[in-house]
Amino acid sequence: MKSRFAPSPTGYLHIGGARTALFAWLWAKKNQGKFILRIEDTDKERSTKESVEVILQGMEWLGLDYDKGPIFQSDRIERYQAVISSLINSGKAYYCNCSKQRLDNLREDLMKKGEKPKYDGYCRQKNLTDGVVRFLNPDDKVVLFEDCVKGNIEFANSELDDLVIARADGSPTYNLTVVVDDHDMDIDFVIRGDDHINNTPKQINLYKALGWNLPSFAHVPMILGVDGARLSKRHGAVNILSYRDEGYLPNALLNYIVRLGWSHGDQELFSISEMIDLFDLKDINKAPASFNKDKLIWLNQNYIKTTEINELLNHLKYHLDSQSINTNNGPNIEDVVENLRDRSKTLTEMANNCAMFYQDFDSFDSDLAKNVFQTKCRPILENLHSELEELDSWTAEKIHNVIMKICENRNIGFAKVGQPFRLALSGNGKSGSIDKSAQLVGKDRTLSRLKMAIDFIENHS
Ligand code: GLU
Repeated sequence: MKSRFAPSPTGYLHIGGARTALFAWLWAKKNQGKFILRIEDTDKERSTKESVEVILQGMEWLGLDYDKGPIFQSDRIERYQAVISSLINSGKAYYCNCSKQRLDNLREDLMKKGEKPKYDGYCRQKNLTDGVVRFLNPDDKVVLFEDCVKGNIEFANSELDDLVIARADGSPTYNLTVVVDDHDMDIDFVIRGDDHINNTPKQINLYKALGWNLPSFAHVPMILGVDGARLSKRHGAVNILSYRDEGYLPNALLNYIVRLGWSHGDQELFSISEMIDLFDLKDINKAPASFNKDKLIWLNQNYIKTTEINELLNHLKYHLDSQSINTNNGPNIEDVVENLRDRSKTLTEMANNCAMFYQDFDSFDSDLAKNVFQTKCRPILENLHSELEELDSWTAEKIHNVIMKICENRNIGFAKVGQPFRLALSGNGKSGSIDKSAQLVGKDRTLSRLKMAIDFIENHS
Protein backbone atom coordinates (compact mmCIF):
# COMPACT_ATOMS: atom_id res chain seq x y z
CA MET A 1 0.00 0.00 0.00
CA LYS A 2 1.31 3.47 -0.85
CA SER A 3 0.20 6.97 -0.02
CA ARG A 4 1.83 10.27 -0.79
CA PHE A 5 2.02 13.91 0.12
CA ALA A 6 2.34 16.14 -2.93
CA PRO A 7 2.84 19.79 -1.99
CA SER A 8 3.40 22.52 -4.55
CA PRO A 9 6.42 24.61 -3.52
CA THR A 10 4.66 27.90 -3.98
CA GLY A 11 4.57 28.82 -0.29
CA TYR A 12 5.45 27.37 3.07
CA LEU A 13 4.16 24.22 4.73
CA HIS A 14 1.28 25.40 6.89
CA ILE A 15 -1.12 23.73 9.34
CA GLY A 16 -3.46 22.49 6.59
CA GLY A 17 -0.63 20.98 4.53
CA ALA A 18 0.97 19.45 7.59
CA ARG A 19 -2.33 17.82 8.53
CA THR A 20 -2.74 16.34 5.03
CA ALA A 21 0.84 15.07 5.24
CA LEU A 22 0.21 13.59 8.70
CA PHE A 23 -3.00 11.80 7.63
CA ALA A 24 -1.27 10.31 4.56
CA TRP A 25 1.76 9.34 6.68
CA LEU A 26 -0.39 7.73 9.39
CA TRP A 27 -2.39 5.83 6.82
CA ALA A 28 0.77 4.42 5.25
CA LYS A 29 2.24 3.46 8.63
CA LYS A 30 -1.00 1.90 9.79
CA ASN A 31 -1.15 -0.28 6.70
CA GLN A 32 2.56 -1.12 6.83
CA GLY A 33 2.76 0.70 3.54
CA LYS A 34 5.09 3.27 2.03
CA PHE A 35 4.83 7.02 2.16
CA ILE A 36 6.14 9.12 -0.72
CA LEU A 37 6.98 12.82 -0.80
CA ARG A 38 6.51 14.39 -4.19
CA ILE A 39 7.22 18.03 -4.90
CA GLU A 40 4.82 19.35 -7.53
CA ASP A 41 6.98 22.03 -9.06
CA THR A 42 5.85 22.18 -12.67
CA ASP A 43 4.49 25.68 -12.26
CA LYS A 44 7.83 27.35 -12.88
CA GLU A 45 6.64 30.85 -12.19
CA ARG A 46 5.26 30.17 -8.75
CA SER A 47 7.59 27.43 -7.48
CA THR A 48 10.67 28.46 -5.51
CA LYS A 49 13.71 26.70 -4.08
CA GLU A 50 13.14 28.43 -0.74
CA SER A 51 9.69 26.96 -0.53
CA VAL A 52 11.04 23.45 -1.28
CA GLU A 53 13.58 23.95 1.49
CA VAL A 54 10.95 25.11 3.98
CA ILE A 55 8.67 22.15 3.14
CA LEU A 56 11.53 19.67 3.61
CA GLN A 57 12.59 21.28 6.89
CA GLY A 58 8.99 21.30 8.10
CA MET A 59 8.59 17.59 7.34
CA GLU A 60 11.85 16.85 9.09
CA TRP A 61 10.99 18.87 12.18
CA LEU A 62 7.60 17.15 12.42
CA GLY A 63 9.30 13.75 12.06
CA LEU A 64 7.19 12.84 9.01
CA ASP A 65 9.76 10.69 7.28
CA TYR A 66 9.21 9.32 3.81
CA ASP A 67 10.19 6.02 2.23
CA LYS A 68 10.74 7.60 -1.14
CA GLY A 69 11.45 11.15 -2.21
CA PRO A 70 11.51 13.97 -2.46
CA ILE A 71 10.60 13.28 -6.08
CA PHE A 72 10.52 16.44 -8.17
CA GLN A 73 8.02 16.66 -10.98
CA SER A 74 10.41 18.95 -12.81
CA ASP A 75 12.66 15.88 -13.30
CA ARG A 76 9.89 13.99 -15.02
CA ILE A 77 8.85 16.37 -17.80
CA GLU A 78 9.77 13.91 -20.58
CA ARG A 79 7.51 11.28 -19.13
CA TYR A 80 4.56 13.72 -19.00
CA GLN A 81 5.24 14.81 -22.56
CA ALA A 82 5.23 11.18 -23.71
CA VAL A 83 1.84 10.65 -22.07
CA ILE A 84 0.49 13.85 -23.63
CA SER A 85 1.69 12.71 -27.08
CA SER A 86 0.08 9.33 -26.64
CA LEU A 87 -3.22 11.00 -25.74
CA ILE A 88 -2.98 13.21 -28.84
CA ASN A 89 -2.07 10.26 -31.05
CA SER A 90 -5.00 8.23 -29.82
CA GLY A 91 -7.42 11.11 -30.42
CA LYS A 92 -8.06 11.63 -26.70
CA ALA A 93 -6.44 15.04 -26.60
CA TYR A 94 -6.08 17.82 -29.13
CA TYR A 95 -4.34 21.11 -29.75
CA CYS A 96 -6.29 24.28 -29.26
CA ASN A 97 -5.20 27.75 -30.37
CA CYS A 98 -8.23 29.75 -29.32
CA SER A 99 -7.27 33.32 -28.52
CA LYS A 100 -7.64 34.70 -25.05
CA GLN A 101 -10.20 37.08 -26.50
CA ARG A 102 -12.35 34.21 -27.78
CA LEU A 103 -12.11 32.35 -24.47
CA ASP A 104 -13.00 35.50 -22.54
CA ASN A 105 -16.04 36.15 -24.75
CA LEU A 106 -17.15 32.55 -24.39
CA ARG A 107 -16.88 32.80 -20.67
CA GLU A 108 -18.79 36.03 -20.52
CA ASP A 109 -21.61 34.72 -22.74
CA LEU A 110 -22.07 31.62 -20.61
CA MET A 111 -22.02 33.60 -17.39
CA LYS A 112 -24.64 35.98 -18.77
CA LYS A 113 -26.84 32.98 -19.48
CA GLY A 114 -26.27 31.82 -15.91
CA GLU A 115 -24.31 28.80 -17.11
CA LYS A 116 -21.03 27.46 -15.75
CA PRO A 117 -18.08 28.77 -17.80
CA LYS A 118 -16.69 25.95 -19.90
CA TYR A 119 -14.70 25.48 -23.10
CA ASP A 120 -17.00 24.68 -26.05
CA GLY A 121 -14.77 22.19 -27.89
CA TYR A 122 -14.24 24.63 -30.77
CA CYS A 123 -10.84 23.16 -31.76
CA ARG A 124 -11.76 19.52 -31.21
CA GLN A 125 -11.99 18.62 -34.90
CA LYS A 126 -9.42 21.00 -36.29
CA ASN A 127 -6.38 18.72 -36.18
CA LEU A 128 -4.11 21.57 -35.18
CA THR A 129 -0.43 20.98 -34.45
CA ASP A 130 0.29 23.68 -31.94
CA GLY A 131 -1.23 25.67 -29.10
CA VAL A 132 -2.27 24.37 -25.71
CA VAL A 133 -3.24 20.69 -25.45
CA ARG A 134 -6.73 19.91 -24.20
CA PHE A 135 -8.03 16.61 -22.96
CA LEU A 136 -11.15 15.51 -24.81
CA ASN A 137 -13.52 15.05 -21.93
CA PRO A 138 -16.50 12.73 -22.53
CA ASP A 139 -19.70 14.73 -23.13
CA ASP A 140 -22.23 12.41 -21.58
CA LYS A 141 -22.65 10.13 -18.56
CA VAL A 142 -21.40 10.83 -15.06
CA VAL A 143 -18.23 10.36 -13.09
CA LEU A 144 -18.99 8.61 -9.84
CA PHE A 145 -16.51 7.80 -7.12
CA GLU A 146 -16.60 6.82 -3.50
CA ASP A 147 -14.55 9.19 -1.43
CA CYS A 148 -13.11 7.60 1.74
CA VAL A 149 -14.16 10.66 3.74
CA LYS A 150 -17.18 12.09 1.98
CA GLY A 151 -18.85 9.02 0.55
CA ASN A 152 -20.33 8.85 -2.95
CA ILE A 153 -19.64 11.83 -5.16
CA GLU A 154 -21.04 12.32 -8.62
CA PHE A 155 -20.25 14.83 -11.36
CA ALA A 156 -21.97 15.05 -14.74
CA ASN A 157 -19.49 15.00 -17.60
CA SER A 158 -21.51 17.75 -19.24
CA GLU A 159 -20.23 20.04 -16.48
CA LEU A 160 -16.58 19.24 -17.03
CA ASP A 161 -14.25 21.19 -19.24
CA ASP A 162 -11.90 19.94 -21.92
CA LEU A 163 -9.11 20.62 -19.58
CA VAL A 164 -5.73 22.02 -20.60
CA ILE A 165 -3.11 19.32 -19.99
CA ALA A 166 -0.18 21.16 -21.58
CA ARG A 167 0.47 24.87 -21.86
CA ALA A 168 1.45 26.44 -25.19
CA ASP A 169 5.13 26.10 -24.23
CA GLY A 170 4.63 22.34 -23.88
CA SER A 171 4.78 22.32 -20.06
CA PRO A 172 2.30 19.89 -18.48
CA THR A 173 -0.35 21.07 -16.02
CA TYR A 174 -1.24 19.80 -12.54
CA ASN A 175 -4.19 17.55 -13.44
CA LEU A 176 -2.08 15.64 -15.94
CA THR A 177 1.11 15.33 -13.89
CA VAL A 178 -0.73 14.24 -10.76
CA VAL A 179 -2.44 11.40 -12.64
CA VAL A 180 0.75 10.24 -14.35
CA ASP A 181 2.66 10.30 -11.06
CA ASP A 182 0.05 8.64 -8.92
CA HIS A 183 -0.14 5.90 -11.55
CA ASP A 184 3.62 5.53 -12.10
CA MET A 185 4.30 5.57 -8.36
CA ASP A 186 1.61 2.97 -7.68
CA ILE A 187 -0.24 5.22 -5.25
CA ASP A 188 -3.22 3.45 -3.70
CA PHE A 189 -4.54 6.36 -1.63
CA VAL A 190 -4.71 9.95 -2.77
CA ILE A 191 -5.27 11.89 0.45
CA ARG A 192 -5.55 15.64 -0.02
CA GLY A 193 -7.48 18.79 0.84
CA ASP A 194 -11.07 19.00 -0.33
CA ASP A 195 -10.20 22.07 -2.37
CA HIS A 196 -9.17 19.44 -4.95
CA ILE A 197 -12.50 17.68 -5.06
CA ASN A 198 -13.51 19.39 -8.31
CA ASN A 199 -10.31 18.18 -9.94
CA THR A 200 -10.98 14.56 -9.09
CA PRO A 201 -13.58 13.77 -11.82
CA LYS A 202 -11.28 15.35 -14.43
CA GLN A 203 -8.44 13.20 -13.18
CA ILE A 204 -10.64 10.10 -13.16
CA ASN A 205 -11.49 10.70 -16.83
CA LEU A 206 -7.79 10.91 -17.58
CA TYR A 207 -7.14 7.62 -15.77
CA LYS A 208 -9.88 6.03 -17.83
CA ALA A 209 -8.58 7.44 -21.11
CA LEU A 210 -5.14 6.08 -20.29
CA GLY A 211 -6.54 2.68 -19.30
CA TRP A 212 -5.11 2.95 -15.78
CA ASN A 213 -6.56 1.72 -12.49
CA LEU A 214 -7.95 4.32 -10.15
CA PRO A 215 -6.50 4.96 -6.69
CA SER A 216 -8.84 5.54 -3.74
CA PHE A 217 -9.48 9.17 -2.91
CA ALA A 218 -9.83 10.79 0.51
CA HIS A 219 -10.64 14.50 0.55
CA VAL A 220 -10.00 16.11 3.88
CA PRO A 221 -12.20 19.06 4.93
CA MET A 222 -10.55 22.39 5.36
CA ILE A 223 -9.54 24.04 8.61
CA LEU A 224 -11.34 27.14 9.83
CA GLY A 225 -10.31 29.75 12.38
CA VAL A 226 -12.32 29.92 15.64
CA ASP A 227 -14.35 32.72 14.03
CA GLY A 228 -15.54 30.32 11.31
CA ALA A 229 -13.56 31.99 8.53
CA ARG A 230 -11.14 30.01 6.42
CA LEU A 231 -7.81 29.61 8.20
CA SER A 232 -5.50 32.48 7.35
CA LYS A 233 -2.26 33.94 8.63
CA ARG A 234 -4.22 35.84 11.21
CA HIS A 235 -5.40 32.54 12.74
CA GLY A 236 -2.08 30.75 12.73
CA ALA A 237 -1.86 29.42 9.17
CA VAL A 238 1.76 30.37 9.19
CA ASN A 239 4.87 28.46 8.25
CA ILE A 240 4.91 25.31 10.35
CA LEU A 241 8.50 26.17 11.34
CA SER A 242 7.26 29.25 13.15
CA TYR A 243 5.68 26.86 15.66
CA ARG A 244 9.15 25.47 16.27
CA ASP A 245 10.45 29.02 16.72
CA GLU A 246 7.67 29.82 19.17
CA GLY A 247 8.67 26.86 21.31
CA TYR A 248 6.22 24.10 20.42
CA LEU A 249 7.28 20.48 20.47
CA PRO A 250 6.67 18.72 17.16
CA ASN A 251 4.73 15.91 18.82
CA ALA A 252 2.47 18.41 20.55
CA LEU A 253 1.75 19.99 17.19
CA LEU A 254 1.14 16.58 15.59
CA ASN A 255 -1.19 15.68 18.44
CA TYR A 256 -2.95 18.95 17.89
CA ILE A 257 -3.36 18.60 14.13
CA VAL A 258 -4.42 14.95 14.23
CA ARG A 259 -7.41 16.09 16.27
CA LEU A 260 -8.32 18.73 13.69
CA GLY A 261 -10.99 16.82 11.89
CA TRP A 262 -10.35 13.38 13.35
CA SER A 263 -11.31 11.97 16.72
CA HIS A 264 -11.31 8.83 18.76
CA GLY A 265 -13.99 9.20 21.43
CA ASP A 266 -13.04 11.96 23.85
CA GLN A 267 -9.36 11.15 23.86
CA GLU A 268 -7.16 14.24 23.55
CA LEU A 269 -3.62 12.93 24.04
CA PHE A 270 -2.19 10.51 21.50
CA SER A 271 1.33 9.21 21.27
CA ILE A 272 2.55 8.66 17.72
CA SER A 273 2.10 4.91 18.02
CA GLU A 274 -1.44 5.36 19.32
CA MET A 275 -2.21 7.64 16.40
CA ILE A 276 -0.96 4.97 14.02
CA ASP A 277 -3.02 2.29 15.76
CA LEU A 278 -6.23 4.26 16.00
CA PHE A 279 -6.26 6.43 12.90
CA ASP A 280 -8.73 5.54 10.19
CA LEU A 281 -9.70 7.53 7.09
CA LYS A 282 -13.33 6.68 7.69
CA ASP A 283 -13.25 8.51 11.04
CA ILE A 284 -12.23 11.83 9.48
CA ASN A 285 -15.04 14.33 9.99
CA LYS A 286 -16.96 15.49 6.98
CA ALA A 287 -17.34 19.01 8.36
CA PRO A 288 -14.49 21.53 8.54
CA ALA A 289 -12.35 21.58 11.67
CA SER A 290 -11.58 24.71 13.62
CA PHE A 291 -8.23 25.90 14.86
CA ASN A 292 -7.85 26.82 18.51
CA LYS A 293 -4.52 28.08 19.75
CA ASP A 294 -5.35 27.67 23.47
CA LYS A 295 -5.69 23.97 22.99
CA LEU A 296 -2.34 23.82 21.23
CA ILE A 297 -0.72 25.60 24.19
CA TRP A 298 -2.40 23.19 26.61
CA LEU A 299 -1.08 20.22 24.64
CA ASN A 300 2.38 21.71 24.44
CA GLN A 301 2.49 22.16 28.19
CA ASN A 302 1.49 18.55 28.60
CA TYR A 303 4.18 17.35 26.23
CA ILE A 304 6.82 19.51 27.93
CA LYS A 305 5.92 17.83 31.22
CA THR A 306 6.05 14.29 29.91
CA THR A 307 8.52 14.12 27.01
CA GLU A 308 11.53 11.94 27.70
CA ILE A 309 14.37 14.17 28.90
CA ASN A 310 16.84 13.56 26.05
CA GLU A 311 14.24 14.24 23.41
CA LEU A 312 13.14 17.36 25.26
CA LEU A 313 16.75 18.55 25.48
CA ASN A 314 17.24 17.98 21.75
CA HIS A 315 14.42 20.36 20.99
CA LEU A 316 15.36 22.81 23.73
CA LYS A 317 18.88 23.08 22.35
CA TYR A 318 17.59 24.98 19.33
CA HIS A 319 16.16 27.64 21.66
CA LEU A 320 19.17 27.73 23.98
CA ASP A 321 21.39 28.26 20.94
CA SER A 322 19.20 30.97 19.54
CA GLN A 323 19.34 32.78 22.90
CA SER A 324 23.14 32.14 23.05
CA ILE A 325 22.87 30.27 26.34
CA ASN A 326 25.95 28.15 26.89
CA THR A 327 25.02 25.29 29.19
CA ASN A 328 28.65 24.34 29.83
CA ASN A 329 28.81 27.37 32.00
CA GLY A 330 26.69 26.20 34.95
CA PRO A 331 24.66 23.31 36.37
CA ASN A 332 23.71 20.14 34.58
CA ILE A 333 21.05 21.14 32.07
CA GLU A 334 19.00 18.01 32.79
CA ASP A 335 18.56 19.13 36.41
CA VAL A 336 17.56 22.60 35.31
CA VAL A 337 15.01 21.24 32.85
CA GLU A 338 13.52 18.89 35.42
CA ASN A 339 13.11 21.91 37.67
CA LEU A 340 11.46 24.01 34.96
CA ARG A 341 9.37 21.59 32.97
CA ASP A 342 6.28 21.79 35.15
CA ARG A 343 5.93 25.49 34.67
CA SER A 344 6.89 26.12 31.06
CA LYS A 345 4.25 26.52 28.40
CA THR A 346 6.74 26.67 25.57
CA LEU A 347 10.39 25.86 24.98
CA THR A 348 11.13 29.52 24.33
CA GLU A 349 9.86 30.30 27.81
CA MET A 350 11.86 27.40 29.20
CA ALA A 351 15.05 28.61 27.50
CA ASN A 352 14.38 32.10 28.85
CA ASN A 353 14.07 30.66 32.33
CA CYS A 354 17.30 28.70 31.88
CA ALA A 355 19.29 31.88 31.35
CA MET A 356 19.67 32.69 35.09
CA PHE A 357 21.56 29.43 35.64
CA TYR A 358 24.16 30.07 32.95
CA GLN A 359 24.40 33.79 32.42
CA ASP A 360 25.34 36.46 34.91
CA PHE A 361 23.65 39.81 34.61
CA ASP A 362 24.76 43.26 35.62
CA SER A 363 21.43 44.84 36.44
CA PHE A 364 18.04 43.92 37.88
CA ASP A 365 14.65 44.56 36.31
CA SER A 366 14.42 48.22 37.22
CA ASP A 367 10.72 48.43 38.13
CA LEU A 368 10.90 45.33 40.29
CA ALA A 369 14.14 46.41 41.92
CA LYS A 370 12.63 49.76 42.89
CA ASN A 371 9.73 47.99 44.59
CA VAL A 372 11.44 45.02 46.12
CA PHE A 373 14.91 46.20 47.09
CA GLN A 374 13.90 48.71 49.73
CA THR A 375 16.14 49.87 52.52
CA LYS A 376 14.36 47.70 55.07
CA CYS A 377 15.24 44.51 53.25
CA ARG A 378 18.96 45.19 53.28
CA PRO A 379 19.53 43.56 56.72
CA ILE A 380 17.49 40.56 55.58
CA LEU A 381 19.65 40.08 52.51
CA GLU A 382 22.83 40.58 54.58
CA ASN A 383 21.60 38.02 57.05
CA LEU A 384 20.81 35.62 54.21
CA HIS A 385 24.21 36.18 52.62
CA SER A 386 26.13 35.43 55.79
CA GLU A 387 24.02 32.37 56.70
CA LEU A 388 24.32 30.92 53.22
CA GLU A 389 28.03 31.61 53.14
CA GLU A 390 28.37 29.40 56.23
CA LEU A 391 26.69 26.40 54.57
CA ASP A 392 29.10 23.61 53.81
CA SER A 393 26.67 21.49 51.88
CA TRP A 394 24.77 23.39 49.19
CA THR A 395 21.43 21.63 48.92
CA ALA A 396 17.89 22.92 48.39
CA GLU A 397 16.97 21.56 51.81
CA LYS A 398 19.76 23.40 53.64
CA ILE A 399 18.97 26.60 51.74
CA HIS A 400 15.32 26.21 52.65
CA ASN A 401 16.24 25.79 56.32
CA VAL A 402 18.28 28.98 56.24
CA ILE A 403 15.33 30.94 54.85
CA MET A 404 12.98 29.46 57.48
CA LYS A 405 15.40 30.25 60.27
CA ILE A 406 15.67 33.89 59.20
CA CYS A 407 11.85 34.14 59.02
CA GLU A 408 11.57 32.73 62.52
CA ASN A 409 14.29 34.86 64.06
CA ARG A 410 12.90 38.02 62.56
CA ASN A 411 9.31 36.99 62.97
CA ILE A 412 8.48 37.66 59.31
CA GLY A 413 6.67 35.69 56.61
CA PHE A 414 8.42 33.61 53.94
CA ALA A 415 7.75 36.16 51.18
CA LYS A 416 9.75 38.84 53.02
CA VAL A 417 12.86 36.77 52.40
CA GLY A 418 11.74 34.82 49.35
CA GLN A 419 10.78 37.79 47.21
CA PRO A 420 14.05 39.78 47.40
CA PHE A 421 16.02 36.53 47.24
CA ARG A 422 14.21 35.53 44.04
CA LEU A 423 14.86 38.88 42.41
CA ALA A 424 18.50 38.85 43.47
CA LEU A 425 18.94 35.36 42.05
CA SER A 426 17.06 35.74 38.77
CA GLY A 427 17.39 39.43 37.93
CA ASN A 428 13.79 39.41 36.67
CA GLY A 429 11.84 37.86 39.55
CA LYS A 430 11.01 34.74 37.57
CA SER A 431 12.18 31.44 38.92
CA GLY A 432 10.91 28.13 40.12
CA SER A 433 11.12 27.18 43.79
CA ILE A 434 13.68 29.51 45.30
CA ASP A 435 15.69 26.92 47.27
CA LYS A 436 16.02 24.54 44.31
CA SER A 437 16.88 27.43 42.00
CA ALA A 438 19.58 28.67 44.37
CA GLN A 439 21.01 25.17 44.61
CA LEU A 440 21.24 24.98 40.82
CA VAL A 441 22.64 28.48 40.41
CA GLY A 442 25.42 27.39 42.77
CA LYS A 443 26.87 28.86 45.90
CA ASP A 444 29.37 31.35 44.46
CA ARG A 445 26.93 32.81 41.98
CA THR A 446 24.15 33.00 44.57
CA LEU A 447 26.37 34.85 47.01
CA SER A 448 27.65 37.29 44.43
CA ARG A 449 24.09 38.03 43.22
CA LEU A 450 22.99 38.67 46.83
CA LYS A 451 25.95 41.00 47.18
CA MET A 452 24.90 42.78 44.00
CA ALA A 453 21.40 43.26 45.47
CA ILE A 454 22.82 44.63 48.71
CA ASP A 455 25.01 47.05 46.73
CA PHE A 456 21.96 48.09 44.72
CA ILE A 457 20.14 49.03 47.95
CA GLU A 458 23.16 50.91 49.22
CA ASN A 459 23.46 52.88 45.98
CA HIS A 460 19.78 53.69 45.82
CA SER A 461 19.00 54.65 49.41
N1 GLU B 1 0.11 19.88 -5.41
C1 GLU B 1 -1.23 19.98 -4.92
C2 GLU B 1 -1.30 21.04 -3.85
O1 GLU B 1 -0.30 21.40 -3.27
C3 GLU B 1 -1.73 18.73 -4.25
C4 GLU B 1 -2.12 17.75 -5.24
C5 GLU B 1 -2.66 16.47 -4.68
O2 GLU B 1 -2.46 16.14 -3.51
O3 GLU B 1 -3.21 15.80 -5.53
O4 GLU B 1 -2.38 21.51 -3.59
